[in-house]
Amino acid sequence: MTTRLLLATRNAGKLAELQRLLAAAVPGVEVVGLRDVPEYPEAPETGATFEENALLKAREAVRYTGLPAVADDSGLTVDALNGMPGVLSARWSGRHGDDAANTTLLLGQLADVPDERRGGAFVCAAALVTPEGAEHVLERQWRGTVVREPRGSHGFGYDPVFVPAGLDLTSAELEPAEKDARSHRGQAFAALVPVLAEVLAG
Ligand code: IMP
Repeated sequence: MTTRLLLATRNAGKLAELQRLLAAAVPGVEVVGLRDVPEYPEAPETGATFEENALLKAREAVRYTGLPAVADDSGLTVDALNGMPGVLSARWSGRHGDDAANTTLLLGQLADVPDERRGGAFVCAAALVTPEGAEHVLERQWRGTVVREPRGSHGFGYDPVFVPAGLDLTSAELEPAEKDARSHRGQAFAALVPVLAEVLAG
């Protein structure tokens, strides 16, 4: 029998990534996205932490669809900004999802911060909630440095100004598959796979 698992996202890239990871590890699970289920009203992300937001989204998805659901929440935390933009990453400039404005504002805020104090991390929390009430959430980080000039055309968000630790390229200069293999999101989804295997085998 096939179990349907909802990934609470409209992002085709995230969906394909979880489908790839699960196909090998948990045969018989069909991963569907928000475009594959009847539309429901999505509440704003009001949580104070990535884990809280991921859990809120997964619980909401279960409530409306009755399917076991995975949701993620992510962002950039900058040490010199005491962890900001954090959960506000997508709307840092005041307009949700304006990547260019968010990045320009961040670079302006960090203009006088010297190179050795420009560290930070992309963070991703991934949550699994089942209709039976089981809840699991975990978080992974991808450390790096915020550079002064945007470089690269892959990715999204703050990728053009983030150089992962141990690399010279920004995450927008990495090939997408290479980014997935290293990133906060790739790591969080990979870590969730054994949990999914156990919970869905039930
Ligand atoms: P969400 O998890 O889809 O809500 O994304 C939160 C925001 O964090 C995005 O709009 C980006 O600004 C930022 N962000 C999260 N992950 C990444 C990434 O992999 N690269 C660049 N920016 C990211």
